[in-house]
Amino acid sequence: MLAAPSETDVFVIGGGPAGLAAAIAARRRGFEVTVADRRRPSFDKACGEGLMPDAVSALRQLGVELSHEHGTPFRGIRFLDSERIAEASFVSRDKWGLGIRRTQLHRILVEHASDAGVALRWESEIDGLDPIGVKLNGSLVRCRWIIGADGFHSRVRRWAGLSPVWRGVRRIGVRQHFRVRPWSEFVEVYWNSHCQAYVTPVSPDDVCVAIIGRAHELRLSDLLTLFPALANRLGHANPTDSWRGAISMCVKLPTVTEGRIALVGDASGSIDAVTGQGLAMAFQQANSLATAIAVGDLRQYEAVHRQLGLMPRLMAHLLLLMDGHDGLRRRVLRALAAYPGAFSRLLAVHVGESHPSGLSLEVLVYVLRLFETHPLVPRRA
Ligand SMILES: Cc1cc2nc3c(=O)[nH]c(=O)nc-3n(C[C@H](O)[C@H](O)[C@H](O)COP(=O)(O)OP(=O)(O)OC[C@H]3O[C@@H](n4cnc5c(N)ncnc54)[C@H](O)[C@@H]3O)c2cc1C
Repeated sequence: MLAAPSETDVFVIGGGPAGLAAAIAARRRGFEVTVADRRRPSFDKACGEGLMPDAVSALRQLGVELSHEHGTPFRGIRFLDSERIAEASFVSRDKWGLGIRRTQLHRILVEHASDAGVALRWESEIDGLDPIGVKLNGSLVRCRWIIGADGFHSRVRRWAGLSPVWRGVRRIGVRQHFRVRPWSEFVEVYWNSHCQAYVTPVSPDDVCVAIIGRAHELRLSDLLTLFPALANRLGHANPTDSWRGAISMCVKLPTVTEGRIALVGDASGSIDAVTGQGLAMAFQQANSLATAIAVGDLRQYEAVHRQLGLMPRLMAHLLLLMDGHDGLRRRVLRALAAYPGAFSRLLAVHVGESHPSGLSLEVLVYVLRLFETHPLVPRRA
């Protein structure tokens, strides 16, 4: 294990995607950067492994150019329940999402960070903060800025006194890979009462299946029986690893900076996995945090961070409403299937291809049609 430098400009705690992205962004602005993580690469994690187009663009801004060879491109989202299929493509033709194994994404980010000159310290646990730096394996590393990128259970957040202001429904997400040729150019989301399964193509021979739901609804032994259409698609495909799990939950903080400490990625608040937006948000935050550090004003980051979370949080709220109400979910799926144009517009806003203000009239018409065709209150006979 390499010793950490005794002094650095920016110290990043956590070498997951958010930490590495923040490190690359700060290094590109000329800072000396050290990243420490208690694990050794490459890291795996329960994840749907779908990078939305805005995640791919945010990485491009960091100089990390992903291509179709790094994974499997997808061109939109498809919702399915026992009765219907609704699908939407990304609006711009050159926009695509990328299904990419989490281990592969991590390898690419480590390579970029290392090439950029970031000091990477693996198997290095941070045990606390100090007024002039961080405590690493019992020694002090002095630094000007501290970035907490230590994930959902962030201790940096606690040390800095930045407690969550709001927590949504706590769900569990599990994922497994299956050896089968991807059958769709879309990320498919299968809906059931209180849980969803989504399938992301990640290579010419593999798909990643993630299932998200409340803990008591998910029994590892018979997960796929919850989704007969998906089980049918997978047929006799062999799993290539075992189920891996993580918590999926919306968490919001009142503020994500304290003095010279800033949080990024899941440490700075998370959104439910069903949105598929966790990584896009982390990469966008990383970019804007480095800009704020360069001008020495973290308030700028606070404002952008709040802005970046608005749409994903709203979408998470709407999707979780569908999760909780069978009747509503059926109605929405029926409407999305009937009005694919509206679905595409919503998806464009979700992935930052268009501004929400452009939606208002269209959404209004869409909602009116939804209620006209399928009234919430059953008509009397
Ligand atoms: C089931 C599921 C499916 C998902 N699917 C998608 C998807 O399809 N697309 C998408 O964009 N997002 C998805 N997400 C969200 C995405 O996985 C997260 O937003 C992302 O992993 C956040 O990355 P991070 O770097 O903030 O945290 P992490 O990946 O958790 O990294 C944190 C790192 O900090 C390290 N660490 C912690 N404490 C310390 C310490 N004291 N000292 C040193 N190191 C420390 C840890 O070892 C870890 O490596 C999904 C999430 C779940 C749960």
